[in-house]
Amino acid sequence: MNGSLSDIRNIYCVGRNYVLHAAELGNAVPGEPMFFSKPTHALAWLNGGDIRLPAGRGEVHFETELVIRIGRQYESGIALDELVDGVALGLDLTLRDVQSELKKNGYPWLAAKGFLGSAPVTAFRPFPGLAPLAAADFGLLRNGKEAQRGNIRDMVFDIPTLIGYCAERFGIGPGDLLFTGTPAGVGPVSEGDLLQLYYADEVWGEGVVRLVR
Ligand code: ZN
Repeated sequence: MNGSLSDIRNIYCVGRNYVLHAAELGNAVPGEPMFFSKPTHALAWLNGGDIRLPAGRGEVHFETELVIRIGRQYESGIALDELVDGVALGLDLTLRDVQSELKKNGYPWLAAKGFLGSAPVTAFRPFPGLAPLAAADFGLLRNGKEAQRGNIRDMVFDIPTLIGYCAERFGIGPGDLLFTGTPAGVGPVSEGDLLQLYYADEVWGEGVVRLVR
């Protein structure tokens, strides 16, 4: 099930997809999904190893997100469980100070969101359907303490809506990943922090990473 990160083609991410997270950064909830993307070079496994953070570019924030992997070419009306072949948890690591400057200037987010190692993911698991994913919360422990906890029920735009929107405008096909947005609780990481991602049903196990600069 795990696959290889070198098979990944596009990494789509959606911003401001949980009301409380949009509010914590002082952003309005958008009227339609707000997509950005990351280079595939941003990918890494959350498998207990280290992730090296960019130095000298300000705060790096964690954003814990459900990640959907696409297994087939999208066709209108295709069932979600035919289209999606895996799910994982991931971090949308963000250079927040850099992003604030980019936002002020109306510049694209690549420098803040697309740095090397900015998209670590756990092992992929078979897609269980949306109801089981919504039956438990997911979240992040930072050095053993809960930092983020959310539930996909609270998304502004649900997963079928995100996929349909993305397919129509940018295309959706095998090997694409979709980072589905972060719940509230984002914050800066420090060198040496241990981050543990979990799904509260504990069927998932966890993805772990230690951050170094
Ligand atoms: Zn995000």
